[in-house]
Amino acid sequence: MQEQAIAWRNAGADIGVVPTMGALHAGHDSLVARARRENQRVIVSVFVNPAQFGPNEDFATYPRPFDQDRARLEALGVDALFHPPVDQIYPPAFKTRVDPGPLGDLLEGKSRPGHFGGVLTVVLKLFNLTQPKRAYFGQKDFQQVVLVRQLVRDFGLPVRIVAVPTVRYPDGLAMSSRNAYLDASQRELAPVVYRAITEAAKAFTAGETDPARLEGLTRERLAASPGLAVDYVAVVDDTTLGRPGRAIPGSVLAVAVKLGSIRLIDNVVLGAERL
Ligand code: AMP
Repeated sequence: MQEQAIAWRNAGADIGVVPTMGALHAGHDSLVARARRENQRVIVSVFVNPAQFGPNEDFATYPRPFDQDRARLEALGVDALFHPPVDQIYPPAFKTRVDPGPLGDLLEGKSRPGHFGGVLTVVLKLFNLTQPKRAYFGQKDFQQVVLVRQLVRDFGLPVRIVAVPTVRYPDGLAMSSRNAYLDASQRELAPVVYRAITEAAKAFTAGETDPARLEGLTRERLAASPGLAVDYVAVVDDTTLGRPGRAIPGSVLAVAVKLGSIRLIDNVVLGAERL
């Protein structure tokens, strides 16, 4: 992959890279479409990265419909699909790991220790193997975008990180490969997450800027759905992930819940989205 990527760059083409774990859906398509608009060459990686899964997480059972993914990417007109075996990314002698620092321990990192170290390690390697001018990430995984931007800044990587808005089902549920785990009753319950955060976002637009009150509104709305356990609800600054004294346009309201053993995350940018 690296040789091909270097050849494209040497020929003057900009490369856009879309890192994924496969089980592709319309959210991924939207990243690919954006990458196609902005670059001469587009590489999509499909790699279920063992380093970002905890020991009790779903690495073994994560969906891997590879033939479908390949057909989907061909139809989208990508220039290359990078689907390396695990030991190409992590050969036996592999030792180095990126440490995301303190932001990696907040929010998702609190519930998923080591997750962002695994993410940043594979992202750094993918960037080196695919030589992107731009790399495309979903706003749904907002903390991931923050940490990848930090990686780029801290290590001086020549890559522009593009965050792409979350693609949703008509009922508001954010598309996710893990939605496949939801049974019918969980699937019916799941849109409450987006309803709860949009209600708080509307309260912000109507003048409520107290982070605790916005979080409280979200929690109240979620509490009305038994069967759904809140992991976190947090209003945070979009770069430091700290809690602002007052929410401002651009602050992010981020949520994680559990429906049985299935964890769902979502977020809204306050003051930025049509609700
Ligand atoms: P994944 O395959 O789940 O690791 O996701 C690969 C990329 O697609 C990540 O940057 C995700 O944030 C992004 N993504 C996942 N779901 C969505 C969605 N519903 N809308 C937009 N981007 C998404």
